[in-house]
Amino acid sequence: MDQRTIIYDALIKRINGARPTPSRWMKFNGPCCVHNGQSRPDTKKRCGLMFDADGRTTISCFNCGFKTSWAPGSKLTSKWKAYFLWLGTSSQDFDWLNFYVEEIRRKMINESADFSLAPRELLEKLDFANVDLPEGAKPLEYWLEHELVDQNFLDALVYLEGRGTEILQTGNFYWTPNEANGMNRRIIIPFFWHDEIVGYTARAIDKENKTRYISSVQPRYLFNTEVIQKDWEYLFLTEGPFDAKAVGGVALLGDKVMPDQANWIRQQGKKVVVIPDQMNKGGRLVDTAIEEGWYVAFPKWDMGIKDTADAVKAYGKLYTVWSIIDVNTKDKLTINVWRQRLK
Ligand SMILES: [Zn+2]
Repeated sequence: MDQRTIIYDALIKRINGARPTPSRWMKFNGPCCVHNGQSRPDTKKRCGLMFDADGRTTISCFNCGFKTSWAPGSKLTSKWKAYFLWLGTSSQDFDWLNFYVEEIRRKMINESADFSLAPRELLEKLDFANVDLPEGAKPLEYWLEHELVDQNFLDALVYLEGRGTEILQTGNFYWTPNEANGMNRRIIIPFFWHDEIVGYTARAIDKENKTRYISSVQPRYLFNTEVIQKDWEYLFLTEGPFDAKAVGGVALLGDKVMPDQANWIRQQGKKVVVIPDQMNKGGRLVDTAIEEGWYVAFPKWDMGIKDTADAVKAYGKLYTVWSIIDVNTKDKLTINVWRQRLK
């Protein structure tokens, strides 16, 4: 049995009428939709399956918003179990599949002398409990697919487009029609860990709203780690989620770095570049960078550009990343001179 294709093979055996699309998704009728709030089963092949060469297997349903993913070395989540049962798999058959997946995982842990080849899941000590998104929250693609014309939704889209196309393209934005806490006037960004949702932040789309973010965040959570690729040389560290999304970095959601967060960041084996906020002289994040020997970047951006997300909107991602890499240093004196120039 090929350990990379075990889940893909198990899915293909059980899915009828999948058709390839010009994108890398195979489309078929989702077995998930009626279990996720849809009144009728999917008949328009809106559920997608994607397989990457390294074994990562992803299901994403554009009809009901169901999404889960697996890679060799990681566990089968409760979402996978539900999905296989919806496909008509018996619990006994699922238990067998789960058994093989655990075998692969055990083998990879035992053989992982070369940790750079092991999936990053095995290196992590950080762990978080699952959290529900605000009531009624679904991916933007879901609402677009249903051609929703709720003005609040359209305003949320306009807000997001205003943050720049590069951020919009990173995806994984959610919205809910639920009015409690003015949630329908916010863009919801889920926090992922091992493909499970472990929190979220909901950004107000109205300038005059003083509560910019309503968040459910667990201590020590690191945002956006799932985008990091093995072959990347740099790991950008920011405070805010939009900044992290803009440059494919990781956000601390604050300026404090806890020891096991620092540990996780070190374990990635990358050149860590802290991009401090322009406020508060870079805060405690710069102190940590100096202690850890990480690089700090003080890019020369035009007046009026307050943060990384703004820079990407104004200059594009390529130039912004270049401007960050171009002016990073780990020299304590240089860092302190630079930070004095911040407000
Ligand atoms: Zn579905």
